[in-house]
Parts: sequence; C-alpha cells; structure tokens
Amino acid sequence: MRRSLVIFYALIIYAVTQLIWWGYQLVNLQYKKLSMILSEGSMFVIVLCFGAYYLHRSINRERKLQEQKKNFLLSVTHELKSPLASIKLLLQTIQKRDLTKAQIQDFIGKSLLDIERLDDMVENMLLASKIENRSYTFPKASFSLSVLVDSIVNRLQITKCDGNQQIINAEIEPKIEITGDKFALTSVVTNLVENAIKYSKPCEAVDVKLFQKEGKIHLQVADHGIGIADDEKSRIFDKFYRVGSEDTRNTKGTGLGLYIVKQVLDKHEASIRVKDNRPVGSIFEVVFGLT
Ligand code: ADP
Repeated sequence: MRRSLVIFYALIIYAVTQLIWWGYQLVNLQYKKLSMILSEGSMFVIVLCFGAYYLHRSINRERKLQEQKKNFLLSVTHELKSPLASIKLLLQTIQKRDLTKAQIQDFIGKSLLDIERLDDMVENMLLASKIENRSYTFPKASFSLSVLVDSIVNRLQITKCDGNQQIINAEIEPKIEITGDKFALTSVVTNLVENAIKYSKPCEAVDVKLFQKEGKIHLQVADHGIGIADDEKSRIFDKFYRVGSEDTRNTKGTGLGLYIVKQVLDKHEASIRVKDNRPVGSIFEVVFGLT
C-alpha cells in the first residue's frame, strides 16, 4: 500500500511538471493565445486535483479496511481458540476426575454455553459473507416479533451472569406481528442484546423494550455500560469496525455484529439509531414501519 502511494505521488509530480513544460512551450510558440492556454491549463489542474483527491481518499479507505481485516482475523482466531480451549478442559476434567452428577451437569452446561457462543459467531460470519456476496435473499414471512424477542431474552438471560441472576429487564408488548426474515431478525436482536451485556460491567442491568406506537414497531435495547463517543456513533455500523485499537480493547468481538444489524434492517425498511443513556451507557433504537 505504501508503494502505491509513492507511485501515486510520483505520477502527480510528473503530471504537474508536464503541465508546466507544456504551458511554457505553448506560451513561447503562441503567446497570442494566452487566454486559451490559461483556461485549458486551469481546467487540467482542477480535473487533476479532483482525481488526486478521490484517489487518495480511496487508497486511504482501502488501507483502513486492510488493517481492520487483519484485526478481524486476529479477533476470530482468538474467539475460536478460547471457547475451544475451555470446552476441551471441561471435557478432560469430566473424563479424568470422579465428579458428582451435579458437577458433571454444571460442566456440561458451561460447555454448552461456549458452544452457543461459537455457534453465534459462525452464524454471524456466514450471514455477513452471504450479505456481502448478495447471495442472501432475505426470505420474508409473517411471524410474532414478541415471541422472538422473548425467546432471545430468555436464552441470554441466565447464560451471561453467574448465579443465574436476572440481568435483562424485558418489557415486551404481546402479539406484535411482523413480516420479515425471521433468521436475519434473530441475528439483529441477538447482536443488540449481546452487545448491551458485553459492553457493560458484569451483571449490570440491560433493558429491552418492544412496543407499538403511532403505527410503528419500536425495539429499544438500553444498557448502563461504557457508552459510545459521539464521533464513533456513525462508524460502529461499518464492517469490521471496533472502537479503540486492538491493543487497548479487552472485549471479545469481530466487528461484524452491527454491520449485520444495519444491513438486515435496511432490507426491512427499518431504521436504527444510537443515543446516550443517562447517566451512562447507550440506547439502540430500532423502528420498523408497518408497510
Ligand atoms: P463487536 O464484535 O466488536 O462487538 P459490533 O459490530 O457488534 O462488533 O460492534 C462494533 C463496535 O461498537 C464494538 O466493537 C464496540 O466498540 C461498539 N459497541 C457496540 N455496541 C455497544 C454498546 N452497547 N455499548 C458500547 N459500545 C458498543
């Protein structure tokens, strides 16, 4: 990438030198047509500047994407390795030690949670790559969004907090029907709720609300976690984007979740916005039109 930047700047310098030389020659040969030369020359400079600006911008964007892809690979490797190591250890303990039935149940439960985490991550990666290849058609059908949100909340409720403490306060209006892609919308709700839990202190409460207002369906996921700075709010929906650098970040993730959320919601004519929660944290608000 650095080499292409060097080549790019060398080309610019070459083109400008050529322009000066060409102008000089023309002035010497046809000094009466100075106005023509000036207008053509300035046009050339303007076009060149525009081209240079856009090229520079796209090279920079490409460089950032490459860097994010590299970070993504590091995160995925880590994300795969840690639950696998944990499952291996739990199974080895069951195999080698004389455990009580309750202990075995506990270990199996923990292994299943790790497997679920792996499964969620693989689903996210598959969906993201299908969206990227435009091979996913978002098959739509009518279903109960209330039941879907309720089942996701129940699945994530006990899984994330030791001691089976309830951390998600859910206010779900019953019988809210929607026409949409159930599989993709499951991923939307799961990603939003998992993020709310992940970017909060352990066992910090998360509020999930689903309701209808003025003919629209609203889904709100609010947390009291680390919050999101204003200048990051629009970037968090970019593919592979994660706030902070890979060195300072200590939460697990791939930067795909909110990209999927945004892409899926776009296909459902739904909007999403993020705002600050009081006194701390974030609120993600999704609004579905009832079209
Ligand atoms: P990740 O796998 O990193 O969680 P996401 O695409 O889901 O990827 O989120 C992108 C980034 O947005 C995260 O890395 C995190 O920095 C930020 N983020 C998402 N949700 C929240 C939240 N509820 N609170 C604070 N930061 C968040």
